[in-house]
This record gives sequence, C-alpha cells and structure tokens, in this order.
Amino acid sequence: MSEPERESMEVDVLYVGAGPANLASAYHLVKQVEAHNEAVAAEGGSEIEMPTILVIEKAAEVGDHQLSDAVINPKAIQELMPDFVEQGFPTEHVVTDSQFRLFSRGGSIKSPICPPPFQKNGYHVASLSNVVKWLAAKCEETECIEIYPGFAAAEILTEGERVLGIRTGEMGVAADGSHKPTYQPGMDILARVTVLGEGVRGSVAKQLIDRFDMHGMNPQTYETGIKEIWRVKPEKHVPGRVIHGSLFPEMLGQLNGMWLYDMKDNLVSFGYVTSLASENPNNDPHRDAQFFKTTKFMRDLLEGGELVRYGAKCIPTGGLYAQPKLYCDGAMILGDSASMLNIMKLAGVHMAMKSGMLAAETIIDALEQDDFSSLTLGGYTERFRDSWAYQEHLEGRNFTGSNEIGTPFAMGLNIPLMMITGGRGLIDPIKTHPSYKAMKKIWELPRSLQEPEPFEFDGVLTFSKEHLVGFSGTAHEADQPHHLKVADKEICSGECARDYNNPCEKFCPAAVYEMVENKETGKKELFIHHENCVHCKTCDIADPYQIITWTTPEGGEGPDYSQM
Ligand SMILES: Cc1cc2nc3c(=O)[nH]c(=O)nc-3n(C[C@H](O)[C@H](O)[C@H](O)COP(=O)(O)OP(=O)(O)OC[C@H]3O[C@@H](n4cnc5c(N)ncnc54)[C@H](O)[C@@H]3O)c2cc1C
Repeated sequence: MSEPERESMEVDVLYVGAGPANLASAYHLVKQVEAHNEAVAAEGGSEIEMPTILVIEKAAEVGDHQLSDAVINPKAIQELMPDFVEQGFPTEHVVTDSQFRLFSRGGSIKSPICPPPFQKNGYHVASLSNVVKWLAAKCEETECIEIYPGFAAAEILTEGERVLGIRTGEMGVAADGSHKPTYQPGMDILARVTVLGEGVRGSVAKQLIDRFDMHGMNPQTYETGIKEIWRVKPEKHVPGRVIHGSLFPEMLGQLNGMWLYDMKDNLVSFGYVTSLASENPNNDPHRDAQFFKTTKFMRDLLEGGELVRYGAKCIPTGGLYAQPKLYCDGAMILGDSASMLNIMKLAGVHMAMKSGMLAAETIIDALEQDDFSSLTLGGYTERFRDSWAYQEHLEGRNFTGSNEIGTPFAMGLNIPLMMITGGRGLIDPIKTHPSYKAMKKIWELPRSLQEPEPFEFDGVLTFSKEHLVGFSGTAHEADQPHHLKVADKEICSGECARDYNNPCEKFCPAAVYEMVENKETGKKELFIHHENCVHCKTCDIADPYQIITWTTPEGGEGPDYSQM
C-alpha cells in the first residue's frame, strides 16, 4: 500500500504530553532563555534565540486526563515560580493534619505517630487537572509556547540511533479499516529534541525504551490506583486532613494502600491502590476499592453523600532502580514515564516537575552548543544526580524490592531500616521482577482463591465497574479500530481461559474486556469494549502473556477528569 501524503512540521523542542513534567519544563525553558538573554544584555555574551516550543496532549482539553487530585509537595513549584501562590496556583487547602490509619471491617486505628513518608503537613491539596490547566495558561502567557490538545503521539520516529520526532495517530478510520470522509493520516512532528512526558507506561516512551534498549536495572513495576470523589455531608468535611493507611489484615498478604483528603465544596477524594504484582489472577483493583468502602470508617464518612467522579490510573512503583536511561540522541524522558515518582510517599508531581526543570536546563546547553546529541543531553542525568530529586529517590530505592520479598519483611524490618540507612536497608540493590510475572496459574493457588471472591454491589456505597465508568466521563468513537491491540485472541479463548481464568476481565477497572460466548461454536471469545477505556494502562502491564498493547486512540478521546 502506498504511503498516504502526510503533513509534517518542524519545531525546536517538542513536548509529548501536557502533564506537570512537560509543562513545568516548557515554562522553565522560556524563563531560563529570557534570564540568560537579560544577563547577556547587561554583562555581554551571546544571546540564545528563543526556540520554537510545541506541547501536544492526547486529551481534548489540557487537564482532562489528569486523574489525581493530589497532595503536592510545593518544593518544585516554589523553585519554578517562587510567587506561585500570588500567581493563583489552584491550592484548595494546605495540609495541617497528616494521619496514618490501619483499617479493618469494623473500625480504624490511628497511629499515634504519623510515619515520615506520610507526613504531608504543608503540602498543597489541589485538583491536578486544575494544576495543569493553570500551568498551561502560564505557558501560553509567555507567548513562546504552543499547546495543541487533541493530538496524540502514536509513534516515535527515529533514524539510526537518533530520535527525529513523532507521528500523530490517524483520524477518521472506521472499525473495518476503511477511511471515513473525515480521514486524516498522522502528521509528522520533527524536532531537534523530543521530550517524552507521557506519564505512567507512556506508549511512545515504551517504544523508545525498547527500540534503543534504555531499560533500567530493574524492570518497572506497577500498582493500579482507583479514585473516587464524593460530596459528603458538610459536618463530615474536614479540610486540611490527609489520611494514608492500609487494610488490615489484607496488607499482610499483599501490600495495599489508601489515601483520603478533603477538597473544597464538601468534596472528599479518596483512592485505593492494588499492586499488579499479584499471584492471584483474580486480582481486581476495582473490587478492592469497593471493598475498602465497606469498612466502618468509610461507611460512616460516605453515608448520605453522593458519588461525583470515578477514575483509575497506574502508578509506576519501581523507583530509582527501574529508571530507564533518561536520554538518547534527540530525546529525553521525564516524570512518570522516567520512573521519577517517589513511591514511599506516593508523590510524583513535584518529582515530575523537577525532572522537567532539569531537562529544560539541559536543553539550554544544547541550544548554546547547537548539539542535541547524547553528549549534551546526557547533562540531564548529571543534573538529576546532583538534585534533591535524586536524594529522595535514593531514600526509597529498595521500597518495591522489599515488598516483593514480602510485606512482613518490608514493614517489619527493611523499610524501617531503609529509613535509618538512607535507603540502603538490609540488601542493596534488591532485584525485582516485572509485575505480570508474579501471576500464578489458577490451579497453583489454594482452592479458596481459585474463584473471584463474591461481592454484592449495593448500588448506594459500592458499584459495578459498568456503573462507575459512567462517572469517569470517558468517551471514544465506537466506529474505529480498537486502540487496545490484542496480538492473538486465540490465546484468550484457549490457554489464558484455562490457566488464568481470563484475568483481563478482573484487572481492568473499566469493564473493557469481556469473554462472550459465541452462539455458533459455544466457545468464549474476547470482546473489547474499547469505548469504556479510562487510559489507566493496567491491561498493557498486567496481562500474563503480554499480548495486549495499549495504543493511543484518536486524539481528544478518553476520560474527562476535569471535575476531579
Ligand atoms: C491514583 C493516583 C494518585 C496519586 N496521588 C498523588 C499525590 O497525591 N501526590 C503526588 O505528588 N502525586 C500523586 N500521584 C502521581 C502523580 O499524579 C504523577 O506522578 C504525575 O502526574 C506525573 O506527571 P507526568 O507529567 O509525568 O505525567 P502525567 O501527569 O500522567 O501527564 C502525562 C500527560 O501526557 C498525556 N499523554 C500521554 N501519552 C500521550 C501521547 N502519546 N500523546 C499525547 N499526550 C499523551 C496524558 O494524557 C497526560 O495528560 C498519583 C497518581 C495516581 C495514579
């Protein structure tokens, strides 16, 4: 088939993804160039020509795909914009009461001392969607940064060992592959440097890391975070509190975690994380989150309230040892895509922003030297190693490894030891495995775990996936090829059904995957409800055969978390 005629454009710096990492980076880049040129005007020297900067974002509007309201360490934003409060950063509350609790069905116990990782006093509670909208507005105010929402990067473009840019996804293709009247081939966006800040399990970053073998020492590992926002009765709304905790005794078998904080307008945001490194093919993050709501503490809190929003997203838990190489000729990787998240604190926003700022400073070097090869872009790694972000990462470097050995080892011994030894603990480094490799075949489990635990959704406090996905605001054109590519569906009907009981039906928190009986053959076949997808990436990670690939759907599609 002949190549369609496609448009192409060139910029100096292309940012893929409008998250905190890339927006902080683009803003810092402009401010640093301006500061450099002002210094040159006063003291002499060579000016740097302001580069052309483009940010593309797959969501219809910047911020729509930002799931998490977040408790944000203000360290990075303070560096980026010291007067961020005066400039209208959308803080809803500043944390004054950090709590750690153990939850059981019948009650909860508050720890008399809040362990250091959960001590968040002074952090800013804000909707991350509003934070990125605000950052995008600040970028646009500079008049040097273009932001194109509704543009999804589908493919990395390379030549030899060098990244040239990206190709956006095609638009207007029907489910049968034919072209609709609205058809547009993907556009090539070529750049001197392509900066990938696509968040967790970035689909283009994944291509790049595989193509140039930029993998970290450990494989990346993941959790799925389920998030709900409820409007609660005014008397139950406690601004300034942040609660982190775990479900007991479930945490002894497999690490789990929850968080809860109060937003404005009587909204309470809470979430629950489930590790994807589970032995059990029936592992179901959505079910876990619903179960968590049946604890007495949550029942009391939510009684009389109403569900406002639901969403899910994966969290990269691998930390420093799973960090990929951060640069290659013509490209850099930032934020969650670069395993920057501090997993001990479940805090990634400040790390993402800091990585963006360090990358921007490196781009200044590249502009000055007119060299975007690894030689100059490698300065990003050096800057990172000299930064507080690296120190934070060092302290948590064996957290995931400790949990892989087992929660009693982690909680009872190694994590406390890590806190005393600056992250070293008893063994350093602890080698880890890809999350999906933990899954056992169904018959290898005790009989009691071979079937999913029954769970009745009451429709008041707990809800089915099908119901909840309606609260994610997600939308995808039905008549298009699935963006969830399953390499071999025969495996689903055959060995996966036999060996793992089709775990995709359980691990997907948005009811995308369903095994449906074919009336003619009597055989169950995989049906993909791609329109439900909330872009959490769980399927790409947890599938035991690694035959599901999450790709970008048409630009502008996906969840709408702007209310979260
Ligand atoms: C449930 C949950 C709770 C969390 N709570 C907190 C918290 O309380 N505090 C905290 O500090 N951190 C928290 N985090 C982590 C934090 O959200 C991330 O670390 C942070 O958002 C990472 O920023 P980023 O810019 O790297 O990526 P993201 O914020 O994920 O942004 C990436 C952007 O890129 C876009 N994109 C992706 N692929 C493409 C593509 N191919 N083409 C175009 N656009 C693309 C996405 O739509 C998105 O807008 C939480 C995360 C989760 C999942």
